[in-house]
Amino acid sequence: MALLTGLDASLWPFWLWLFVATLLGLVIGSFLSVVIYRLPLMLRRSWGETDLPNISLAWPASHCPACQAPVNWKHNLPVISWLFLKGRCANCKNPISRLYPGVELAAGLLTLLIAWRYGASFQALALMGFAWTLLVLAVIDAQTRLLPDFLTLPLVWAGLTFHWLYSSPELFNQAFAGALLGYLSLWSLYWVFKLLTGREGMGYGDFKLLAALGAWLGAPALVPIILLASLSGLLVALIMKLRKAWAGQALPFGPHLVVGGLVLLLGGWEIAELLMLDSWLLITGWAFTL
Ligand SMILES: [Zn+2]
Repeated sequence: MALLTGLDASLWPFWLWLFVATLLGLVIGSFLSVVIYRLPLMLRRSWGETDLPNISLAWPASHCPACQAPVNWKHNLPVISWLFLKGRCANCKNPISRLYPGVELAAGLLTLLIAWRYGASFQALALMGFAWTLLVLAVIDAQTRLLPDFLTLPLVWAGLTFHWLYSSPELFNQAFAGALLGYLSLWSLYWVFKLLTGREGMGYGDFKLLAALGAWLGAPALVPIILLASLSGLLVALIMKLRKAWAGQALPFGPHLVVGGLVLLLGGWEIAELLMLDSWLLITGWAFTL
């Protein structure tokens, strides 16, 4: 990772690389929670809800939503400040959502795992960007049922560019097929489901998200991703049913696709093989060599 001469992280001791990566993840996580909070509001305003405040990702500076007091740097340290303030605003003592430290911790952990699995390389940095975007998409979808094109479409192009620049021609072809098949597979499922039941099981955002996962992880990863996502979705539906928190409403599928994608990113083919997906892989591999 010779981004800056003299700062080549591949020369660092491995623990130092992991430590710096985790810190980077925590700090980025702090920014991600701003995106998660503001992007849906910005979108809704652009769709005509003009009574919403005119904000951007950078303006205004972080402030308490209850009392508008600005957050100073001491109270803006990832996770630590939230613990130190016992989850309350330093000024008005109103509770601060657990989502903020949660997203920061998740980003820190994901970044650590990618740094550990992929080592000190530019590829690892690119994969961190991929994982951070997935985290934002999962939380926004869980909270608002939106998967903004603003994030999904650039993620497709970024994946293709990444493989164009850093992978072999075969892997680039897998990425290209992955984007295409990712979109088309859910698109067809959507129509089969709609024609059979007259209901919409998912939205166009899900197709674009799977296209992005296919672009980054390749076409052979799509089947394990869909299987993992369905398992994860079923599990959550079951838990909600047991807790009587589910009244049959459609549940967002994006977070489960993200779970599938991250498991493949971090676990790789060992996971896919553990799930005994060899036959499925043969079928996709075959479809793909046609
Ligand atoms: Zn406050």
